Amino acid sequence: MNNEYAIETKCIQSGWKPGNGEPRVLPIYQSTTYKYETSDEMGKLFDLEAEGYFYTRLQNPTNDAVAQKICELEGGVAAMLTASGQAANYYAVFNICEAGNHVILSSTVYGGTFNLLTVTMKKMGIACTIVDPDSDEATLNAAFQENTKCVVAESIANPALVVLDFEKFAKVAHAHGVPLIVDNTFATPINCRPFEYGVDIITHSTTKYMDGHAMSVGGAIVDSGNFDWDKYGDKFHGLTTPDESYHGVTYTERFGKKAYITKATVQLMRDLGSIQSPMNAFLLNIGLETLHLRVPRHCENALKVATWLENNDKVAWVNYPGLKSSKYYDLAQKYMPNGTCGVISFGLKGGRAVSVYVMGKLNRAAKQSQLADARACVIHPASHTHRQMTDEQLREAGVQPDLIRFSVGIENAEDIIADIEQALERI
Ligand SMILES: *Cc1c(COP(=O)(O)O)cnc(C)c1O
Repeated sequence: MNNEYAIETKCIQSGWKPGNGEPRVLPIYQSTTYKYETSDEMGKLFDLEAEGYFYTRLQNPTNDAVAQKICELEGGVAAMLTASGQAANYYAVFNICEAGNHVILSSTVYGGTFNLLTVTMKKMGIACTIVDPDSDEATLNAAFQENTKCVVAESIANPALVVLDFEKFAKVAHAHGVPLIVDNTFATPINCRPFEYGVDIITHSTTKYMDGHAMSVGGAIVDSGNFDWDKYGDKFHGLTTPDESYHGVTYTERFGKKAYITKATVQLMRDLGSIQSPMNAFLLNIGLETLHLRVPRHCENALKVATWLENNDKVAWVNYPGLKSSKYYDLAQKYMPNGTCGVISFGLKGGRAVSVYVMGKLNRAAKQSQLADARACVIHPASHTHRQMTDEQLREAGVQPDLIRFSVGIENAEDIIADIEQALERI
């Protein structure tokens, strides 16, 4: 779809384009394989000489339509779906890294991404330097090595709610000839389109707002097409020199701006196989159709809840980038002026025990590990996701022991506030 359409229209119309007499609604291509008349046609597909489907582990029409919609929402040139957000971040990095390489990672990224890079990919021989996203340029510059291949960060960090200074990070990454990869799960393309600020590759956990109903785990990778792999051909030789597993195809030569996503699809999906099921892609597409309606409501409700909390004398502190009191308010206004996300965090006077007590008294907000879906939900990281840690270790990890993470849903905001109010009254 061309860029003259607004994002609301893209949420509905992008992706599946039925021909004359074809199903109006995106069909679920529940088929592992595709039929051809001649073995020669199949052979060409396996050599990447012809375009077409041959096995769902690599490509499926349902998934491709949904990937295309996400691609257009972000304003990219190519995109793919993955089985999960974890798989998206893994592939996004591993597509351009190998043993002996090095990655720079923002310290506040989602715990799963932190673990992926610092534990699992470390075992694969890929080293990682952690940087504070608020560091100045000189500090960031000092983190680079000869073998650095990319910088990884989040547009709004989960759950620290740090807003990324995109232009600072893009400038530093590009000065060192590497791409900036940003996980845009929390902001979503409705609130922020990171490619406009120099980001090269975007990842998503579609499990969160994109699906929006806590129905299916999934992920996506989108390429802006802006990073010049050939200019740094030695560094990114996997894209710029022949791939013997495909009879010597060179991705940048054959696929141009689609080189990065093509390589991740035909090489990483072929070998590692973290595909999204077509059924999940179908459900994700339904979520995407209302993304532009849901995200503003999440933000509007979150701002009401955060403001109410800030004015309550039982509350010790509130962290929400949409509040003027937030350290990240100015960055949020600059990069996501229409809203940030529906997740807020706060602590109560009296500390950990009081926070746990109040959480237990909430009636509507569910205690659950997943966040960023339609329903209000709440988690106390010190008792749940980080429960093995002592109070001291929690503070070192940037998780205050009293921190309550509240994912504000799209219910009526007054009802959500009333639920918190009755719980606070029981202290
Ligand atoms: C949840 C999440 C992930 C991981 O995604 P899954 O779909 O759970 O694998 C990655 N990044 C961010 C920012 C997330 O919130």
